Amino acid sequence: MSRIIATAAIRGAHACVARAEKMLSETEERHGRDKAIGFEATAYALPVTLALLGKRVMRLGDLDEVLQEIRRWLPPIPDSDIWLPYLGGALDAGAATLIAHETVEALKPLNGHDLVYDYWLGPTADGILREQGIKLVDGRMPGFAACVGALPDDETAERLARDLQEKNILVFMGSNTNGETMAGQLHRRGVDMNWETFLVPYGPDTSSIIHALGFACRAAMTFGGLHPGGLKEARDILMYNKRRVFAFVLALGDVDDEKYATAAGAINFGFPVIADTDIPQILPTGICTYEHVVSNVPYKEMPSRAIEVRGLKITSLDIPIPVRHGPAFEGERVRKEDLAIEFGSKYTRAYEYLKSRRMDEVEDERIRVIGPEIGDVKEAAQLPLAIFVEVAGRKMQVDFESILERHIHSFLSEPMGVMHLGQRDTVWLRISKKARDAGFRIEHLGVMLLHKLKNDFPAIVDKVQVTLFTNKEDVDQLYDEAVAAYRRRDERMGAMTDESVDVFYSCALCQSYAPNHVCIITPQRLGLCGAYNWLDGKAAHEINPHGGNQPVAKKELLDPVKGKWKGINEFLEVATNGQFQSFSAYSMIDDPMTSCGCFECVACVLPGTGGIMVVDREYRGNTPVGMNFSSLAEITGGGQQTPGFVGIGTLYVLSKKFITGDGGLPRLVWTTTNIKQRLGEKLRQRCAEMGLPDLFDKIADETVCTDLEPLIEHLAAVNHPALGMGEMI
Ligand code: SF4
Ligand code: ZN
Repeated sequence: MSRIIATAAIRGAHACVARAEKMLSETEERHGRDKAIGFEATAYALPVTLALLGKRVMRLGDLDEVLQEIRRWLPPIPDSDIWLPYLGGALDAGAATLIAHETVEALKPLNGHDLVYDYWLGPTADGILREQGIKLVDGRMPGFAACVGALPDDETAERLARDLQEKNILVFMGSNTNGETMAGQLHRRGVDMNWETFLVPYGPDTSSIIHALGFACRAAMTFGGLHPGGLKEARDILMYNKRRVFAFVLALGDVDDEKYATAAGAINFGFPVIADTDIPQILPTGICTYEHVVSNVPYKEMPSRAIEVRGLKITSLDIPIPVRHGPAFEGERVRKEDLAIEFGSKYTRAYEYLKSRRMDEVEDERIRVIGPEIGDVKEAAQLPLAIFVEVAGRKMQVDFESILERHIHSFLSEPMGVMHLGQRDTVWLRISKKARDAGFRIEHLGVMLLHKLKNDFPAIVDKVQVTLFTNKEDVDQLYDEAVAAYRRRDERMGAMTDESVDVFYSCALCQSYAPNHVCIITPQRLGLCGAYNWLDGKAAHEINPHGGNQPVAKKELLDPVKGKWKGINEFLEVATNGQFQSFSAYSMIDDPMTSCGCFECVACVLPGTGGIMVVDREYRGNTPVGMNFSSLAEITGGGQQTPGFVGIGTLYVLSKKFITGDGGLPRLVWTTTNIKQRLGEKLRQRCAEMGLPDLFDKIADETVCTDLEPLIEHLAAVNHPALGMGEMI
């Protein structure tokens, strides 16, 4: 490492550790060593400290030992004339800096400084991390940029952010340059900053960058199933990051000692540093996959340079529309005051309908708008809309219609300035004035669909034709046909059972993060991330026969109650590298399915009730087992089979095969209001079908109680069937 950088980094590390020590002793004086400490909504205490030291910091006093330890890591500050030929000392100093940063951030709330205010989001909850899991593995979020500092002006800041968004890179922002912050600059430009838009502002101090590394460490622990412990475990977590987490640091503006020290910390994770200023370069490849520090990079080139240095694979699609597009723009809202035109919601009828056709019935690439275009109506007009997509392909099947149609939502959310909510006939679509002024027209919705369908489904889609009806007569006329198709598909999907097929589909997408995990997707049990059902698996296999979704022949039925088949077990053994030999589709007690990390919900046995609870990852409160979602998820995840705990997709609760090996839906005694709302009528119907029409109302949620004792009283009072079913374990 360059002498200058090493010296600055070590000097910075000394300053950071000293500051943490001072802050700790002041805080201890105020609150005592017993005061609880930690970030909200995580089961990983102070995650970087946990990962690097194996120490779970719960009370202020625990930090004494931590800071003593990292002080020992600090090499003496070199005399500026001494040549340092290797990275060692500076890297240790960097690691110490990270833990000092985490200490400072954790102490802030105890000293009256909130981590969440204005547009700053503070540390990431475990639930959000898990929600991103599926985007990490399916390529929608191929990399991460930690932006440290600020740009010369607001406009340049927005351009850099948009360039990164367009490449689907998740952007963490922290620190400042002479008091100015990148997030502040974006805020003044009116840019939406949140997890959905891939722009995450952590905080204005350099120490806030630690939350990005906390995210990285938890990725290794939640998805990789790595356990913190000693030095070897710390090394494994760092190696996991180097191999699987494609992150880099963008150093924006002047780099001071503290930033050098932080950068040295990031290099431990294999995350290179790209700087706009003339800091000394470190090009030889050692810890990072390529260069460690690359300097003097103009803003415009930063994203592409970083991608090249970190060895990231990005496939971006050129679509001839006049605005930027990509998954990072999906979460952007179009507000009322920015509105050029709007369809659906409660104002007009708007729906989307995708139909498969014979090859000769589709004129490829034909896009028509029938009715008024955006320029024909007054600003903020509300029009009806029918998005009618006709698709033909030699390998297209009627069964794939619903899969392709469901993708219309994400495809039409991708152009910047277009907001699409809902699906089928609950669509709400808005186009912003900015998009219109850039030349975006209703017709471009069709262009977007055409290119995305052909690009993402090349093996089943050969021809696409899109008609956008915006006049009432046509919209109303096609409506009955669309509704009949929705109904037909639901009936077909509802009639499909695990017995009616010979093969299930595997999904190994999550193996890039959880090497021993595989999902077995059956018609009556969808993947635990909630994003893939059996038909998706089938279509994905058609599209890419050598991909992560393989048909698995069930073969001999070994246990009809628990749901065990010989062929599934044989496959499992190979797919999990020999880790698991048996899997029950319908039991969470006996060989339950493994859980990677991105499950929508955790189902968990509640001793003393004869039942289980189902908790969704958005739920932040306590549950009757005395744990919040994060702690439950920690027990459940990491590619393990944990009897009594299982990660599931929310819709599995509605399945006729929902834990039937353990007693089925009547076992459900507690869930969250989120889940009750999401499943709503369908769950009521399911209860009624089982001859238990009042079961829905007997299932408790957090508004009834969050402790076990009152729950048992509640169950007795309402005479919940689980009480009479006997204990599960
Ligand atoms: Fe991961 Fe399973 Fe979802 Fe596939 S189905 S993406 S393996 S959680
Ligand atoms: Zn997963």
